[in-house]
Amino acid sequence: MGLRANLLTRRTAGVASTTLALLLSTAAVGVVPAASAFSAAPAQTCAEPADVHSDARVKAGAQTKHEPNELTAAQVREREADLAGALRERANFRAGAGAGTLATVTIPVVVHVIQENSTRAGGNIPDSLITSQIAVLNQAYSGATGGAATAFGFQLQKINRVTNPAWYPIVSGSSAERSMKTSLREGGKNTLNIYLGELSDNLLGWATFPKRTLDKMDGVVALNESLPGGTATNYNQGDTGTHEVGHWLNLYHTFQGGCSGSGDSVSDTPAEASPAYECPTGRDTCTATGKDPITNFMDYTYDSCMHQFTAGQASRMLTAWNAYRAA
Ligand SMILES: [Zn+2]
Repeated sequence: MGLRANLLTRRTAGVASTTLALLLSTAAVGVVPAASAFSAAPAQTCAEPADVHSDARVKAGAQTKHEPNELTAAQVREREADLAGALRERANFRAGAGAGTLATVTIPVVVHVIQENSTRAGGNIPDSLITSQIAVLNQAYSGATGGAATAFGFQLQKINRVTNPAWYPIVSGSSAERSMKTSLREGGKNTLNIYLGELSDNLLGWATFPKRTLDKMDGVVALNESLPGGTATNYNQGDTGTHEVGHWLNLYHTFQGGCSGSGDSVSDTPAEASPAYECPTGRDTCTATGKDPITNFMDYTYDSCMHQFTAGQASRMLTAWNAYRAA
């Protein structure tokens, strides 16, 4: 793809349904496409636009991609109704089977390294980047980087290296992605499968939200060079992984819903009109109380800018875990 050197800002745009993605694009900082521009996009195929040079400026509407992880208001309503249903189902199950509700969770992680060949450019990243990524997840989700502690810890089970040029780069929404995941996915609903490779459309990553039934598409896809120590400038501290796992645990973006309504369905993340890029300290795009949560892992800022989840997000993730992913 050859665009990596130009990545400076995460760009956004779009709508999506059950998948989410982060992109790097060539759009202008702060440009957010009108919702109508994406309304016709098929669910799950939109890619979050990427970004470009921080000094680049692109005309409004010039963005061509959006993240597969951005949702419409209707999609959020549908997901929230499903969560309520899953919780009722789970409560009934517990009443009958005596299963408990988990308070802490260790998530088994299987990492699939997709390679075109044996070179670094062909996807052959060292194991050390992967172990560093697991460490970053554990720090982020424990609150060690300054946010709320969540219930989650991560344990690497396996690194699975696969050389298959047909799956490289990993193309969001493609039949090749489906083939890859169908062939490779391991474990139950509680197992985090992470697929690493070069990605289509300058995306940083994408993820699936939890579902009541196990879906072979379930998992996180991330740009291999976004891992800690990778080459994706400004996005190489591992927070793409942190962000995408947040979606996998049922978090929306902090800018979901903009300034109105229930936003991201979390009460302690101040409303935000649109994604924030780079690190715009002091940004405040809604009249409601609180500045924009630019340091939250679920915004689109640089890795160096984001360092926290809130208590409300931690609670939402645990609720979702017990509704969807707990055994
Ligand atoms: Zn996202």
